[in-house]
Amino acid sequence: MPVHVFQTFTYKLPENVREAAQPGMRILIPLGRSLIAGYVVGLHNELPADLDVTEAEIKEASSLIDEVPVCTPEILQITKWVADYYASPWGEVIKSALPPGTNPAIREAIRITDSGHAKLETIEEDSSLEKQILLELIHRNTLSKDDLSHVAPTHQLIRTLREMENRGWITWEKVQGHAPVKTKLRRVVGLRQPLTDIESERLTEGQRRVLDLMHDRSQLSVQELAKTASVNVSTINSLAKRGILEFATEHVRRDPFSSPVRDEPEHYKLTDAQTSILEEIEASLTKQEYSAFLLHGVTGSGKTEVYIRAIQRTLALGRSAMMLVPEIALTPVFSQRLRAHFGDQVAIFHSSLQRGERFDEWTRVKNGEARVVIGTRSAVFAPVRNLGLVVVDEEHESSYRQQDSPYYNGRDTAIVRAQKESATVILGSATPSLESFQNARTGKYQHLALPERIGGRPMAEASIVDMRKVFARHGKPQVFSDELLEAIRTTHDRKEQSIVLLNRRGYSSFVLCRSCGETIQCPNCDVTLTYHRTERVMLCHYCNHRQPAPSACLACGKKFIYYVGEGTEKLEELLKELFPSLRIARIDRDTSSRRRQFEKTLTDFSQGRIDMLVGTQMLAKGHDFPNVTLVGVVSVDAGLALPDFRSAERTFQLITQVAGRAGRGDRPGRVLIQTYHPYHYALRHACAQDYEQFFNEEIVYRQNHSYPPFVALANLLIHGNDLGRVRSDALEFRRELDKANSERLCRILGPAPAPLARLKGEHRFQILIKSRSRRQVRTVADAALKSIGDRGLNLRFFNLEIDPLSIM
Ligand code: ADP
Ligand code: ZN
Repeated sequence: MPVHVFQTFTYKLPENVREAAQPGMRILIPLGRSLIAGYVVGLHNELPADLDVTEAEIKEASSLIDEVPVCTPEILQITKWVADYYASPWGEVIKSALPPGTNPAIREAIRITDSGHAKLETIEEDSSLEKQILLELIHRNTLSKDDLSHVAPTHQLIRTLREMENRGWITWEKVQGHAPVKTKLRRVVGLRQPLTDIESERLTEGQRRVLDLMHDRSQLSVQELAKTASVNVSTINSLAKRGILEFATEHVRRDPFSSPVRDEPEHYKLTDAQTSILEEIEASLTKQEYSAFLLHGVTGSGKTEVYIRAIQRTLALGRSAMMLVPEIALTPVFSQRLRAHFGDQVAIFHSSLQRGERFDEWTRVKNGEARVVIGTRSAVFAPVRNLGLVVVDEEHESSYRQQDSPYYNGRDTAIVRAQKESATVILGSATPSLESFQNARTGKYQHLALPERIGGRPMAEASIVDMRKVFARHGKPQVFSDELLEAIRTTHDRKEQSIVLLNRRGYSSFVLCRSCGETIQCPNCDVTLTYHRTERVMLCHYCNHRQPAPSACLACGKKFIYYVGEGTEKLEELLKELFPSLRIARIDRDTSSRRRQFEKTLTDFSQGRIDMLVGTQMLAKGHDFPNVTLVGVVSVDAGLALPDFRSAERTFQLITQVAGRAGRGDRPGRVLIQTYHPYHYALRHACAQDYEQFFNEEIVYRQNHSYPPFVALANLLIHGNDLGRVRSDALEFRRELDKANSERLCRILGPAPAPLARLKGEHRFQILIKSRSRRQVRTVADAALKSIGDRGLNLRFFNLEIDPLSIM
């Protein structure tokens, strides 16, 4: 349902669809003056008791869209949970569970009325336009305006139709058209029966070629056949007319795997650690009850191998498996590996698939052809039947959180889905989220550890470069420390590769006029614009506003424009100047918007055609480059300074991930981290690769300051165009929250301007609600939202976010 509604609606079913209707089907329903697609979520014979209308007031639904439900009972169940838990509209959640582009178009159509029929009898003149239109309408049930384009020029047709409508001869109605995305079919030919001798004597040369080709094949597409036999399609048609060939339609599968499939999967002998972990998982799979594992293993410790074995086991038990991965960038690697093991049993789900591919993969899962699903967060809604295993890899990743409506966390949804469907869930990470590790400590999850790399390969040696000392040495700020430059030099002297990271794309972080101090702000957001040199534009990283880069200050007109701070684009340029003999490429959101380009750069790097990669944290994840022995992190300070309770956790994770990129092969790796905060605990523990020490320190901070996992958190964002209005709405909301919180079970903070106080032209205030009781947070927030809504304020401007990952 495209409309942003929170309640369900009740409709009367027309007589002719009552038998066929089932929950999970889509149905066309009138809403206001338009016709829209809705989802049947329940059927009742009596009016529900809590419904505040009489039978006469209930509108009638139009027609069913589907012959079989598009939502399985499991999908209805999990989407309902998401809608309730995250306070999201159920229809929106269902919509994101289905492949996009499959809702039918609604078009306007004309139908003849009774008085139209009567009128037709009386028109004598055959050339009358009215008569022609009415006749056409009798032959076909409904017609669109375009269907009539041959009877008159458009303007005349429109005028006539309007008159005919005014006289009551025709009516306009809305009818269901085609969906933009559907099963792809092609016409194929097959041999009907062996030829009789007489028939084979009466063949032309071309016909004989066609039949020879058909001889050992069951079906061929018409185009293919005509081309290979070098005949016209008419030759094939005539054979079909004679009953020798027959036509059929066949499904064409659109396959999202771009590169050729690696044919032979690797078969390792599991290590002892892997074996004992797998035994525990298998025991749980066999029981077919819900249980959850946290697989805590450093990068390269063989987690993926464990997932693969667990999936094999699941399939052997006759059940299906689902594996969630955080980023698109990871899926080619993983999905190739899974495909090598499971072949066509694997379906892949992620948002950069074409819509047709996505639809076909979804269909293969729904009809049970594919029993292993791999994909990003929305794959949690894949219509898998008989789910036995759910794997969430890199469970700590923030990309599991959907950042706009419907808000949900794919990891948490996966856990709930496993619970509801009695499946086993494995959360895997080298740096578990604080929540998950705490759950493992309290026994909610079973903790499984893989503390060592496969083959005893050493972890990379990470060290901190104190940039304050570098500053003192040079008397001015440096982008690269002497230590990092030296390390780059020696690495490449040994013909090894390196990665240089900075979590900021673009050329410079902002532009400053040295004469008057003016900076260039985004007109829509409370941030400065970033200079992107390749495109010569100033770009807002939040709303994508772009404007030409200035040659003079916009405020004072002087030419003292100065670019402050570095982005990846500038790093690339500086490094190319410093190391002219190295082949350097950049990977960030600017260079990788094209999937092929991105994959090509990664391939070139892994095959040694590129020496150094410069990029954002996109580079820190998942990839396995055995010849990389150096990773330099230019700065982590911006990340540490973010006003967010997870900033230390994020920085710790980032560095640990990065360290996992170095020394994957036989040679040891080195990681250098440049910072002005060398004693920060997240950095110290990350360098020592000591997760538990970090956890122990961080968990105390969370407890002392009442942050998750010790409290449930909700963030209410009030936004709108008018600052005064937003502020007063926020204050109003706070008063309602206080009323609902009379027992003081929640702590309420704010309203305060959100850290990003203006975004995409809107002002933003936020209120934080914390409580040890998760239920209380919702009770209080829901009550306040209800009073606000009852008073006629538009709830679209009040966004409730449950379990926000960040509070920025
Ligand atoms: P992780 O997912 O923890 O990063 P992987 O499962 O990708 O680890 O394993 C790291 C590397 O070791 C991969 O190249 C993998 O093919 C290899 N590997 C995994 N298990 C074994 C094993 N039992 N014996 C030998 N090599 C293995
Ligand atoms: Zn902006």
